[in-house]
Amino acid sequence: MKEIGHWINGKLVKGTSGRTADVFNPATGEVQARVALASKAELDGAVADAARAQVAWGATNPQKRGRVMMEMVRLINRDMDKLAAALSAEHGKTFPDAKGDVQRGLEVIEYCIGAAQMLKGEFTDSAGPGIDMYSMRQPLGVAAGITPFNFPAMIPLWKMGPALSAGNAFILKPSERDPSVPLMLAELFKEAGLPDGVLQVVNGDKDAVDAILDNETVQAIGFVGSTPIAQYIYSRGCANGKRVQCFGGAKNHMIIMPDADLDQAADALVGAGYGAAGERCMAISVAVPVGEATANELVKRLVPRIEKLKVGPWTAGNDVDYGPVVTAAAKANILRLVESGVAAGAKLVVDGRDFKLQGYEDGFFVGPHLFDHVTADMEIYRKEIFGPVLSVVRSNTYEEALKLAMDHEYGNGTAIFTRDGDTARDFANRVNVGMIGINVPIPVPLAYHTFGGWKKSSFGDLNQHGPDAFRFYTRTKTITSRWPSGIKEGSAFNFKAMD
Ligand code: NAD
Repeated sequence: MKEIGHWINGKLVKGTSGRTADVFNPATGEVQARVALASKAELDGAVADAARAQVAWGATNPQKRGRVMMEMVRLINRDMDKLAAALSAEHGKTFPDAKGDVQRGLEVIEYCIGAAQMLKGEFTDSAGPGIDMYSMRQPLGVAAGITPFNFPAMIPLWKMGPALSAGNAFILKPSERDPSVPLMLAELFKEAGLPDGVLQVVNGDKDAVDAILDNETVQAIGFVGSTPIAQYIYSRGCANGKRVQCFGGAKNHMIIMPDADLDQAADALVGAGYGAAGERCMAISVAVPVGEATANELVKRLVPRIEKLKVGPWTAGNDVDYGPVVTAAAKANILRLVESGVAAGAKLVVDGRDFKLQGYEDGFFVGPHLFDHVTADMEIYRKEIFGPVLSVVRSNTYEEALKLAMDHEYGNGTAIFTRDGDTARDFANRVNVGMIGINVPIPVPLAYHTFGGWKKSSFGDLNQHGPDAFRFYTRTKTITSRWPSGIKEGSAFNFKAMD
């Protein structure tokens, strides 16, 4: 059985805790590897070594650190297919989708090549008589990232790029479900010129996470995952005096106005609802058509599109639309929620419960489901299902549809499909959600903008990537300086204007 360890001080090392977790092939249900689960002692050791390595890295000029990112871009492109194949094999997503996962991470590394621009600070000449004032952004020291299973390349890269290019050492605790790609990325960082110890990848579960939360050297934690764990990490990390940003779950609504191009909306919904088996924090899981006629026409267009979806293993090639979900437990949870929808009276228009794939009977495949007549009190509406299940909630008016999105506890992404600019603008301005698409179903911002939700989809006040990432992974120091020749006065006992 393949053993997956950690990346410590520039080398792959075995775990010493004696604890491991199974890594499955989601397409067959077989255990394909065992990943080491780090103990507190292993995590603390990795942090101590990282803190030593950070001193020289933090003092390296930012343009040189940017060059490591530039080389990393070349290496990721060189190994794109290898990374995507490893990713599909553990996650289950299709090969083109796995490449997209690597690509969207790579774009943040491209952005980080210009880190020097983000770090150069501010300067005021002659802020007072002979006085100059300047602010600089300094690295925090050791920062940590805790990442989910669903984007095992993109989200680690979103964290590693800004943290490292800002001069920090970084501890990554990836998901134990698909740990291979983060280790491959760490090897590439070494090849790109990153000094040993500056990036440590420590595999593990709650024990490793708790060790990060309680380690006094770790200055900041960036988390992405489900909301209950986000809340836990945010509160315990903050209580321990750390800078913490946590991105949580989602329930993304798409409002479909009567004037929308319904074929375009239906195509968009099928891609956004079922792509990656619905295991995306920006997946659309709720469609809100406005008006009965819109709802009827939309459902009429959705059903044949959904029935045509090809579900299969990533090895079956490019015409597979989506693959298995990540674990048997994830599959069981999705099917339990489907049953709860049926029991609550929602109409299961496309029923994927009996889906079986010949030759892959033990794989974690879930057929596509479409619910109509879902109401806001139902569990399938309130909870994040994180599977190939789309719910249609019919609304009578635009205001009613807007209120649904506003009242939901999650606020990651949302979209509106309409031909009316006024309605689109009103929606974008009023809705209390972090990322909005106008005739765009999955509005994931590009690397130089920032990514983050509102409400229970995000805890902390800065977003991921873009300029916010550099604010998060640095702290500001402001210096007021006067050289002796400029000093013309004696002691001052009161605040006064510098004039
Ligand atoms: P998860 O919360 O189960 O795990 C995330 C991380 O937390 C993993 O590294 C895991 O090892 C760790 N963890 C799990 N249980 C823990 C515990 N009890 N104590 C401490 N640490 C623990 O999430 P997941 O299933 O890997 O990922 C799916 C979730 O992530 C979904 O809710 C999805 O919406 C969310 N997500 C959000 C975003 C975003 O940007 N908002 C992006 C991607 C995924």
